Amino acid sequence: MSQQGYVAAPAYSQSQPGRGGFSAGFGPPNPSLHYGDPNSSYLAPQPGVLKSNVPFGSSAPVGPLPPGTHQFSQTNFQNGASTPGQQIHRFQGPPPSRNAEPSYPSYSHQSQPAYPSTASTSADTQLANQLNSMQITSYASKPEDGCKPGPSTTPSSRVSSGNPASFQGPQLPPATQQQIALPPGLQVPPPANNANGLCAQTLPPVARYDGILGPVPPNSNMQQLSGQPPGSGYHPQQANYGPQIAGSQLSYPGAFPGGPTQLAGPQQKQLDPDSIPSPIEVIESDKAFRGGQIYATNTRGQVPPLVTTDCIIQDQGHASPRYIRCTTYCFPVSSDMAKQARIPLAAVIQPFAIVPPNEAPLHVVNHGETGPIRCNRCKAYMCPFMQFIEGGRRYQCGFCNCINDVPVFFFQHLDHTGRRLDHYERPELSLGSYEYVATLDYCRNNKPPKPPAYIFMIDVSYRNINSGLVKLVCDELKTLLDKLPREEQEESSSIQVGFVTYNKVLHFFNIKSSLAQPQMMVVSDVGEVFIPLLDGFLVNFKESRSVVINLLDQIPEMFADTNESETIFAPVIQAGMEALKAAECAGKLFIFHSSLPTAEAPGKLRNRDDKKLLNTDKEKTLFQPQVNSYEALARNCVANGCCVNLFIFPNQYVDIASMGVVTMYTGGTLYKYNNFQLDADSPQFLSDLRKDIKKTSGFDAIMRVRTSTGFRATDFFGAICMNNTTDVEMAAVDCDKAVTVEFKHDDKLNEDNGALIQCAVLYTSISGQRRLRIHNIGLNCSSQLADVYKTCETDALINFFAKSAFKAILSQPLKMVREILVNQTAHMLACYRKNCASPSAVSQLILPDAMKVLPVYMNSLLKSWVLVGRPEIPTDERAYQRQLVTAMGVADTQLFFYPQLLPLHSLDLKSDIVPAAVRCSAERLSEGGAFLLVNGLNMFLWLGVSAPPELIQGFFNVPSLAHISTEATSLPQLDSPLSKKLKSILDHIQSQKPYTMKLMIVKQQEQPEMLFRQFLVEDKSIYGGASYMDFLCCVHKEICQLLS
Ligand SMILES: [Zn+2]
Repeated sequence: MSQQGYVAAPAYSQSQPGRGGFSAGFGPPNPSLHYGDPNSSYLAPQPGVLKSNVPFGSSAPVGPLPPGTHQFSQTNFQNGASTPGQQIHRFQGPPPSRNAEPSYPSYSHQSQPAYPSTASTSADTQLANQLNSMQITSYASKPEDGCKPGPSTTPSSRVSSGNPASFQGPQLPPATQQQIALPPGLQVPPPANNANGLCAQTLPPVARYDGILGPVPPNSNMQQLSGQPPGSGYHPQQANYGPQIAGSQLSYPGAFPGGPTQLAGPQQKQLDPDSIPSPIEVIESDKAFRGGQIYATNTRGQVPPLVTTDCIIQDQGHASPRYIRCTTYCFPVSSDMAKQARIPLAAVIQPFAIVPPNEAPLHVVNHGETGPIRCNRCKAYMCPFMQFIEGGRRYQCGFCNCINDVPVFFFQHLDHTGRRLDHYERPELSLGSYEYVATLDYCRNNKPPKPPAYIFMIDVSYRNINSGLVKLVCDELKTLLDKLPREEQEESSSIQVGFVTYNKVLHFFNIKSSLAQPQMMVVSDVGEVFIPLLDGFLVNFKESRSVVINLLDQIPEMFADTNESETIFAPVIQAGMEALKAAECAGKLFIFHSSLPTAEAPGKLRNRDDKKLLNTDKEKTLFQPQVNSYEALARNCVANGCCVNLFIFPNQYVDIASMGVVTMYTGGTLYKYNNFQLDADSPQFLSDLRKDIKKTSGFDAIMRVRTSTGFRATDFFGAICMNNTTDVEMAAVDCDKAVTVEFKHDDKLNEDNGALIQCAVLYTSISGQRRLRIHNIGLNCSSQLADVYKTCETDALINFFAKSAFKAILSQPLKMVREILVNQTAHMLACYRKNCASPSAVSQLILPDAMKVLPVYMNSLLKSWVLVGRPEIPTDERAYQRQLVTAMGVADTQLFFYPQLLPLHSLDLKSDIVPAAVRCSAERLSEGGAFLLVNGLNMFLWLGVSAPPELIQGFFNVPSLAHISTEATSLPQLDSPLSKKLKSILDHIQSQKPYTMKLMIVKQQEQPEMLFRQFLVEDKSIYGGASYMDFLCCVHKEICQLLS
């Protein structure tokens, strides 16, 4: 039934054409909210418009529902009866209705299923014909044989890598593409009707590997495969299917039994793995090309260095790639072209990204009471895209083309080129990113905001007391509260603190500095929480230090004898939110909780985990909150600037999909520690807590993305909340949170003007100053598809696909979501093949250079725990990962979907350099080696059975592998150079990641290796996901079908 181009599409494409997916059902659709509409209320100086005053979750009648909505409501999971205005379907886009035009009409599922249909004999025959050669070719093509170069992509634009200055101008790596020809005679078997739905799963590993070694057609560009005897032929007799071959040829010991298909151990002895595009090669070559250099953002549509490349970024008019990365830096000029290519047009915006000390911090512009200068029509902020005319008296808005008067105080003469004489003196004229001090018009109730508050809310039920967690938290806070974030010029932090403990009831504490002892107030009416005290609940830690320390000493004692095992949860959040509201400030709740809230209270949950739902149409319900009240609560929190950080310590199912909702919508962070053990897990938890508390955040934030004419932002993904189609609300946004924004055409774009994007975030700083953070970026536009493909960024594409897929699973069967992803991949590549590549044998799989590792990343996404339902994978873990990825920036999704596998047995002790990673496949492991694997959430140290004793001694100070305990979660502190080097590598990796990873030590051929192996994403997954090679075959077959 679905014909949408990719998974995100239906979220907005029907309810209100082109509008955000969250909007259905929230408040009356406001047709006047338009880009360029002078009535647009966003940030306009009108009291009360910054945040909706309509109570969230109220049953206020909504405007007329768009066609299709009712039908949709009936076909989807609901909790309880649906009443108008109840926000049941907040994630769910309406279903594709028959009359609505899909945003990217795809090959219809009827005629071209995502998985090749077995019925099509002719297609199979054709495929067999196509697969009649088998070389794998990777070459740098001359522009004329790879892409039809547009005006902006002449070969001369390539910068000399010897130029130390910077990348200036449109410097793209040479246009290349990857051609892969698949083996002869490889008969792709009919798709298995299995749960995972990956056609490639049935491709026999033997056939694929042997096949790849087939006869080599003459091709001057082809690289001879190494390690392969010349002319070694393809052995057709080995092209059998069935796991028995795979099983019998396992060259790697310790293959795992079980799983839906036999895990095909690596047989890559027969395969040169370098023959298929390697992410490591791509990463390393970008590092070699651009690493350590200055990257100046002075050119529109410039493709930045990869997110994995370290370089120094200089803002020269466009936002740093630390703040904004795009799926492509050249938009197609028309929607027809966009539909043809089906490359998502999206930007991943991380507005508070950390900038390293060697790059300039953001300048703050203060126009005093006048406030920021904005276009009269579209309200865009003054930026480098404004064109000054008439001697500098007026300016033309780059976004809506409106001519505005320059305010008198801002007037400046122009030079002979038309540039203002003060161009370089004003950040808002010359920089891509800067801040404005906001005026009272931008403040809630037109009053200057108060500094934010942090409220610590500790679950003191039996389990948390017994595990030692309560004492751990209290002890830690005694020192941590001295490290609350502050502005550079401030002597101490302005952040206020407050404390609540709870089990079935709530305990508030008066910690006023004048008190000798803290006072406790119990609220047992959890049905309607009220705040028993205002004065003395939120205090300045410095002033109330002795009372607070006293309290933190007492809390573990106070509840030491508790038998209370039941907890409440929603009333805790409610209480924190009410306290912030009463204090008229924004803030964060830090909640330390351990169990399913089963006590009689609002938000009470039951265990509804049901493995029988896996791979059914109802699987999606596992990701939806169990009761509606959490979503209403979340919206209420956002409306009051209350961000919820949840530290959860479960030892069984706690319904993350319900409990995490408030955290997710409020821009908070969810941390999960399964089966928390004080000794083993404290370091990880404390590190997370310390990092989180010290993070710089923007509070009570609202983000708006404006675009130049011809396209607009249509959908948003992230830890965000939306009450209309344009305003992205976040109770808080920290340095690690990214919002992915999708754009669609609504007119033709102009190649001269390009596609301009301005992201404005209004927020309250940690010191309580209301500010605007502005990021601007300009992209190119082209009528040549080749230009669009050439400037794609795979890492950003995967971020978009992951987030849109993880949103789509709330409303669509997972199988369909996976199919759409496969179909989408094939479609993008087929379009390239058809329109950009030079004619070549149909058997060749041709990948555009900028997308050549898209298949391996996409395959990893397809077999991620979120998208693959298996009874072995806990539902909470899936919901957890879904939530985390939804808020991730490009660097974090890149590592998550393609973990780093570092060889440790060949460390260069003299250099500081982290060794180059190897490809994420078991084939890369060696018995005599040691490897570190990290994905941002997990960290493994894998030790080969014959790892040399010197290595073991150096890392662990024990004589052999047998002496190492795999229970250990950290390395011993040793004085050996090897140990110090490893420590520095671990610290380096950890310092760049938002979540602290607990180290797991894995010995080759021992049980825990099974878990480790799931992260080797190029291999076939134990849960049935395809290997990289199989997936390539699958995509290739799809492409052939699309082209035929
Ligand atoms: Zn304008």
